[in-house]
Amino acid sequence: MECIRIENYINGEFVTSSLNTMDVKSPSDGSTIASVVLSTKDEVEQAVQAAKIAQKDWKKLSYKQRAKFFFKYLVLLEENREVLSVCIQSENGKSILDANAEVDKAIELCEFACSIAQDDVHAISEVSTGITCSEQRRPLGIVSSISPFNFPIMVPHWTVLNAIMMGNAMILKPSEMTPISAQHMARLFKEAGFPDGIFSVINGGKDAVEAICDHEDIKALSFVGSTPVAKIVYKRATNNLKRALCLGGAKNFLILTPDAEPKMAVSDIIASFSGMNGQRCMAASVLVAVGNCDHIISQVVDAVKEISNDENLAPVISNAAVTNLNTYMEKAQNNGAKILVDGSQYKTNKKGYYTAPSIIDYREGGTMEKEEVFGAVLEIKGASSLEEALREQNNSPYGNGTSIFTQSGRVSEDAVRELEAGMIGVNIGIPVPREPFSFGGIKDSKFGYGDITGKQSLNFWSDLIKVTTKYSGENKIDWMS
Ligand code: NAD
Repeated sequence: MECIRIENYINGEFVTSSLNTMDVKSPSDGSTIASVVLSTKDEVEQAVQAAKIAQKDWKKLSYKQRAKFFFKYLVLLEENREVLSVCIQSENGKSILDANAEVDKAIELCEFACSIAQDDVHAISEVSTGITCSEQRRPLGIVSSISPFNFPIMVPHWTVLNAIMMGNAMILKPSEMTPISAQHMARLFKEAGFPDGIFSVINGGKDAVEAICDHEDIKALSFVGSTPVAKIVYKRATNNLKRALCLGGAKNFLILTPDAEPKMAVSDIIASFSGMNGQRCMAASVLVAVGNCDHIISQVVDAVKEISNDENLAPVISNAAVTNLNTYMEKAQNNGAKILVDGSQYKTNKKGYYTAPSIIDYREGGTMEKEEVFGAVLEIKGASSLEEALREQNNSPYGNGTSIFTQSGRVSEDAVRELEAGMIGVNIGIPVPREPFSFGGIKDSKFGYGDITGKQSLNFWSDLIKVTTKYSGENKIDWMS
């Protein structure tokens, strides 16, 4: 693949600059596929100035007028599904099927953005005789979205579309490890006819994020990434009196009961922890077996050994990620756990960043780390009762997703009532809500109020203005006749 230079997209143009750059590596073979510019506060300032001008007119359009641009963009997304998928695969390494699924999700998110025009009809009510109260949403102005490497198309589509649909101008800061997809996104925005300056892409890392957090004209930001960085960004943005919603990492629990339907449980558990190499914030990390679930666990272990081959495995994002996962396996062994499948032993002649799924068993001893691993590692714990299993989950500092596998309605209802996570599933490995339901965790998986997608996101990207109206019925109106 030809090595391309990834520039910023400001005021409807890709801006050539002499900024420092960083190499973007292909996870599949380690080659350099691009160099990405590392922006500073000057480039953020340029994007803000362009956004300021563009947003003045954009905010005056009605939802229906804005929706027309999104309908065009939706068609373009559909037409460019293959191009976008290949791009995601080249920079992130995920399989083409996972990349297709990511673009399909972006399409669904765009359908939701289009629907806002039809659905966000505001309340109006006569609150006492002759007096009405009504609500209007107002855009915030210039806003920003900072995204991680693992979903270079989906996560920007969580935030960019709804924010712009609500009348804001948006500055996207993609992950410096996967910045190519955002260039395609910018091209499609241009082709769909969005006014220049309404959508900008600022590339870079920490410096660019800090400049966004500090810029007083940027009124709100969303962040998606690891918990330590989410905390830093949330503190910095809110310290600057900005509205912020920062989604962090996760360690998601699946609770398995002996009465779970075995076929469904086995395939969902495997897909949840090993799909996309575990690089999903909703991937299963811990399986808590209530009582004896050996008949299911043994099938999971056998099947995972089967899939660990060159044909099935996609790479992880970097060499550092491989080292991190392999070190985790060593630590687990040293901590007294039993290793049921050791992905760190996987050998391949491929040049990229490869490791295989692992399964660690703590049922007979060993201490599990509380922190996120962010890779295909399933850690099994035992519990003698449902209450004990729920306690295990609720002791986790994270609260993104969790699921229970059972055929009992009563057991699932008890669990759903008690589990501490933002997104809960019953008999489903990855309980991601679909539009118009919102996405977002709790505890250390999210800082800030509200959710990042669906109806909840509309509140985040706008102010709700309340209007109270009273007219005197006494005055004679003669200018109408
Ligand atoms: P990351 O935290 O390293 O980076 C995220 C973004 O923050 C990037 O754009 C990066 O440039 C920027 N950044 C990195 N360090 C920074 C610093 N010190 N100051 C300011 N900005 C900084 O995350 P990642 O490795 O790209 O993505 C993986 C992580 O994202 C995992 O922890 C995963 O669980 C999480 N994630 C969470 C969700 C969710 O919905 N909760 C979704 C996807 C990914």
